[in-house]
Amino acid sequence: MFMSFPGIGARQARRFVYFLLNADGDFLDAFTAALREARTRMRRCGDCQRYFETNGAETPLLCDGCRNPHTDRGVLMIVEKDADVGVVERSGQYHGSYFVLHDIIPPAEPDKKIGVPVLSLLQQKIRRANEAGILKEIIIALSANPQGDLATMELVKTLGSIGKNGNFKISILGRGLSTGTELEYSDEDTLKHALENRK
Ligand SMILES: [Zn+2]
Repeated sequence: MFMSFPGIGARQARRFVYFLLNADGDFLDAFTAALREARTRMRRCGDCQRYFETNGAETPLLCDGCRNPHTDRGVLMIVEKDADVGVVERSGQYHGSYFVLHDIIPPAEPDKKIGVPVLSLLQQKIRRANEAGILKEIIIALSANPQGDLATMELVKTLGSIGKNGNFKISILGRGLSTGTELEYSDEDTLKHALENRK
């Protein structure tokens, strides 16, 4: 089970299993309750696809960022995961909107760079913004590794075809870091530099 978690190898997975085997009943009850609670309270935003906490009711369908009138809708940053949004927000260097792809190599579609459902949501979002004439720039900010590079190329091709009739440019976030680096682990200065030097 734990080996399917991101970044967890066989040794760490075994440590988790032994930890849970040794844990007392109260801890296990609290742990499973917290997981269940997260499943009910957390929801993907209908616009940017990031996870956000709801009050358990059906509304709102949009996260705080998407409901915030100060969010700059002229810029859209495409990232892989929620943790990347957190890193960029903490840097205080970006005030635009986001789109979270989640799986860039979807397990059920190994021959695809980006899952079909999420890519079509992204295309719809961009088409709407483009038709409304508000979108000025798309920033692709995926990991600097082979998967990230392939997904970036696919995005440039797919989204570029929407842009033919529009006014937005597509920038790729140069990380200024060695190959293999994930955005999640970039520090604030590097991120600031990368945002200033995007092309
Ligand atoms: Zn949102």
